[in-house]
Amino acid sequence: MSWWLAARSIDHVVLERGEVANTWRTERWPSLTLLTPNWQSRLPGFGYEGDDPDGFRTLPETIAFLERYAGLVSPPLRTHCRVTSVRRAADGYEVATAQGTWQCKAVVLATGGFNHAQRPKLSEAVPSGIAQLTPVQYRNPGSLEPGGVLVVGAAATGAQLADEIQRSGRPVTLAVGEHVRASRTYRGKDMQWWMDATGLNDERYDEVENLTRARSLPSFQLAGYPDRRNIDLNALTSLGVKLVGRLAGIRDGKAQFSGSLRNVCELADLKLNRLLNRIDQWAAENGVSNADPAHRPEPTRVEASPPLGLDFERAGIRTIVWATGFRPDYSWLEVPVLDPKGNIRHDGGVVSEAPGLYVLGLTFLRRRKSSLIDGVGDDARDLSAHLAAHLGATRLGKAAGRL
Ligand SMILES: Cc1cc2nc3c(=O)[nH]c(=O)nc-3n(C[C@H](O)[C@H](O)[C@H](O)COP(=O)(O)OP(=O)(O)OC[C@H]3O[C@@H](n4cnc5c(N)ncnc54)[C@H](O)[C@@H]3O)c2cc1C
Repeated sequence: MSWWLAARSIDHVVLERGEVANTWRTERWPSLTLLTPNWQSRLPGFGYEGDDPDGFRTLPETIAFLERYAGLVSPPLRTHCRVTSVRRAADGYEVATAQGTWQCKAVVLATGGFNHAQRPKLSEAVPSGIAQLTPVQYRNPGSLEPGGVLVVGAAATGAQLADEIQRSGRPVTLAVGEHVRASRTYRGKDMQWWMDATGLNDERYDEVENLTRARSLPSFQLAGYPDRRNIDLNALTSLGVKLVGRLAGIRDGKAQFSGSLRNVCELADLKLNRLLNRIDQWAAENGVSNADPAHRPEPTRVEASPPLGLDFERAGIRTIVWATGFRPDYSWLEVPVLDPKGNIRHDGGVVSEAPGLYVLGLTFLRRRKSSLIDGVGDDARDLSAHLAAHLGATRLGKAAGRL
């Protein structure tokens, strides 16, 4: 956003509570690698120039990449400057921080869509002897209690952690609800290559049939490992991970699972096949000649009668990892624009109820790719245009060549 505001000669400041790349430094587990290939983290004015476009960045590489970008953009940045409140003022907004108060005509909330790891209410019924942690608290398998681990949630985070923990020798049980199956490669090309080339990642928020649903879908079961292995349920089952249904309750030291495991797996298979059909059709229409032949993955293997209950003690479960999703934190936002679930009401990032207020970096904000590093540039361009119109700043400055 700072790049686009500078391009439009809009005076601004970037306030960051930590350092550049704070989220990656402080809130992600150390072995995390990006699930998006190197070529796919395109930021305004900054593409990939290394010799491994199809590789996946490690956490330190991701931090270094964002530091390099900050060096290039050189934004008017205040680090260690936590925003403690944003409220309406006569001519815009008043932003309070530990380093003083700013008065401004517009505010862009770019504080991230994944600040808090969610822990469902039923976690309160977990017996006291069992350790519980979220992906933000998770470090590595060695830091877990010896014994079995229940991972709850099978989106990208849950599937990645189940893979890592099971490989470490601790037996994993994975509670699976609705999920989005994906394979790392299809017809010899990376899934993200297809998502990009077909335009699916660019699909706009005002074009999808059911936006509320699109915004609440779990992430692809994908990981960015050097061996490009899959982490879908079949891959995890082959490793020895035990699949159970969605965690529905906890009572008297026992977990209760939904009986829907087979159904959610069939649905995920169906949707993956639909996606592959769409890709094949696009490839045929666009004369993609260098891809392998089309094929379909083996259906998800589910045992005939998956268990509906689990006695934590008898099963040797010592740890529960809640991989049940993330949500943004707006505890400091004193402008009444949140819905009853705590989500900000916005139209493609424009907070219409509060002129001059914008939000960036949320799932399917303006495009399917909005919550990826790769998606923020286009969203920021669009929102900076709206913001400029709001300010009446039509004059383009000396950096107009960037637009
Ligand atoms: C587990 C996980 C894995 C992911 N993997 C990928 C991936 O492989 N590829 C990909 O493209 N995307 C991935 N994402 C999504 C990725 O997080 C976003 O693409 C990216 O971080 C969005 O950047 P952002 O600047 O919007 O948010 P963030 O990176 O979260 O940055 C928000 C910044 O705001 C600061 N902040 C928050 N509150 C305040 C405040 N009150 N005052 C001042 N500063 C504040 C934070 O310190 C932080 O630096 C992943 C997300 C998660 C949760």
